[in-house]
Amino acid sequence: MSEIKGASVVIVGGGVTGLSAGWWLAQGGVDVLVLEKGLIGWEASGRNGGGCSHHHSPLFAEEQRLWPLMDELLGYPTEFRPERIRLASSEHQMALYGRALRNAARQGFDSEVLDLKQAKEMVPLAGDTVVGGYHYKFGGHANPHRTLQGYAWAMQDHGGRVLQHTTVTGFRTEGGRVTAVETDRGEVGCDSLVLAAGPQTGRLSAMLGQEVPVQSARCEMIVTEPLPLMPLGGVDGCGLYGRQTLRGNLAYGGGPHEWLALTEEGTPAKPTTPLMLHIGKRLAQLLPKAAHARIIRSWAGVIENTPDGRPVIDRLASQANVVVATLSSVGFGLSPASGRAIRDLVVDGACGFADISTFSLARFAELEPNWRELQGWQVTAATEALAA
Ligand SMILES: Cc1cc2nc3c(=O)[nH]c(=O)nc-3n(C[C@H](O)[C@H](O)[C@H](O)COP(=O)(O)OP(=O)(O)OC[C@H]3O[C@@H](n4cnc5c(N)ncnc54)[C@H](O)[C@@H]3O)c2cc1C
Repeated sequence: MSEIKGASVVIVGGGVTGLSAGWWLAQGGVDVLVLEKGLIGWEASGRNGGGCSHHHSPLFAEEQRLWPLMDELLGYPTEFRPERIRLASSEHQMALYGRALRNAARQGFDSEVLDLKQAKEMVPLAGDTVVGGYHYKFGGHANPHRTLQGYAWAMQDHGGRVLQHTTVTGFRTEGGRVTAVETDRGEVGCDSLVLAAGPQTGRLSAMLGQEVPVQSARCEMIVTEPLPLMPLGGVDGCGLYGRQTLRGNLAYGGGPHEWLALTEEGTPAKPTTPLMLHIGKRLAQLLPKAAHARIIRSWAGVIENTPDGRPVIDRLASQANVVVATLSSVGFGLSPASGRAIRDLVVDGACGFADISTFSLARFAELEPNWRELQGWQVTAATEALAA
């Protein structure tokens, strides 16, 4: 006998993907329950850079439409701030970053080219290490913790439930459908199931006969002490992404992906001194007038990566009532739109506002079993040692 009351839709994973989907479903009157093995947002969803600018995604238009509305829609603050700047430190980088400008322009979003003087005016912490940059009048950033909490509270306001410290261990199936989810606290009945377990999505879907290909990687972020607020807090460059918080701290990440072995409990996500120093050094190159600032915090997070870098949001062929969603390292910014897409797949059977056929599982039908090795995404002894 289970202590947990079942739900029409059970969602595995209390990150931004699962909670946004839960909120979209609950506000439409669906009885929804999110099961989370630890604390909500404890994994990548609470550790990311907060960037919301995915111009290469079929969900881009919806991402851009929704973010400015999110505080009002959720009824809780996300600290969303629109627009971003990317600084270039060479003409080569200027040319490279121009691609984003052209791609967004094709979709109707404006940008502005900045010369050195304009770049320094807009980014007071920049110096002569830059040659110019771009002011993208789209995208932006938000506070990951506030956003995640906003999804959870808003979902609960509509009658949705979250159970933390509840690990999903298996599934009961009948006639090509999942009828219940097995957890370490008993079985939970459901009409539909959403697997939104980040890097663990593949391991869980494999229990249902179809593995979603995902490889885990660790990446890190550093936070400086507060600095005077810049006019626009989202400034990227030097291979870094990040934002200035409303308090003035610079929160930045970016660097090599360190491939990790996935364990059932989760993968280790400790920050390492070499990576921290590397990020700090590059932040000082990007924003030389912040070079004196002390690093007051750092953390690591584990991101999910599919072989082609694109999300998976699809139904499982083997079980008609299961939707799988793993966002391949762009899940925070896309979360308002990915949650809506998942809701559409669960309720309507197809996404009604964007063509997400490139997120299908069918694209991996011919994937070689050793795809991780072929891509060079292997766990190395050095990474293992650092994580220990
Ligand atoms: C350092 C860093 C910087 C990033 N920067 C950005 C950025 O600027 N912009 C952006 O868009 N994205 C960014 N990302 C990526 C983004 O954070 C992720 O794509 C996104 O958070 C994925 O959310 P999710 O809910 O799908 O997965 P997760 O956040 O991984 O959540 C999955 C949840 O499922 C739970 N779970 C797993 N297995 C089980 C089980 N068996 N039972 C119950 N629960 C389970 C986990 O505990 C976890 O809480 C960054 C990531 C990192 C680490």
